[in-house]
Amino acid sequence: MDMEQAKIPQATAKRLPLYYRFLNNLHSQGKLRVSSKELSEAVKVDSATIRRDFSYFGALGKKGYGYNVEYLLSFFRKTLDQDETTKVALIGVGNLGTAFLNYNFTKNNNTKIEMAFDANEERVGTEVGGVQVHHIDDLENKLGDLEVAILTVPASAAQGIAERLVEAGVSGILNFTPARISVPSRVRVHHIDLAIELQALVYFLKHYPLMEDEP
Ligand code: ATP
Repeated sequence: MDMEQAKIPQATAKRLPLYYRFLNNLHSQGKLRVSSKELSEAVKVDSATIRRDFSYFGALGKKGYGYNVEYLLSFFRKTLDQDETTKVALIGVGNLGTAFLNYNFTKNNNTKIEMAFDANEERVGTEVGGVQVHHIDDLENKLGDLEVAILTVPASAAQGIAERLVEAGVSGILNFTPARISVPSRVRVHHIDLAIELQALVYFLKHYPLMEDEP
């Protein structure tokens, strides 16, 4: 994202890929405009939040007209760097790592796992989902100018690998391990713990059951 959009709140920025994906679908169906109500139902974000989010980038919906799909899409494309593919490294080709390598990220957004690393000699030298698996010892040699990494190693290895990634110039880490990793403040870590997310969902279902909409 460029400096011009640096003032968008983080919570808004996190929703942009969601909006982008939906608007792209609308655009390919030939739709020219969309209301915040329609968007709200599709992306499950309340319409007041959508209107506030959109106001940050100067998209003011007109009453009875909605938002111009083309305008929003071109804004998102620029903001999300969709014109450029971001190359990503994946560390740890176990069950989860393998699933990510086989999953085609480029279908919905412009990120691509370019290379993978593992410590297991049997995996090194193989190709998974069309991506070459290198030995973790070669991390610093092979990374080049990659700045984003996905971490799917065991929790015990996470901190050590994160330090090596940072040292090698990585500035963004998507951490799927349960370990909380410490990195310098200039490095952004997003943490996704699938087990905890699932547990939280079950907890909410039990303690905060959702009501059916009034007819
Ligand atoms: P599996 O046991 O089937 O490999 P898993 O996802 O349960 O799958 P984990 O023990 O979580 O396995 O390890 C994930 C992957 O990380 C494995 O492929 C393992 O070889 C690799 N790995 C473990 N330690 C390191 C390390 N220090 N550096 C790089 N890769 C590592």
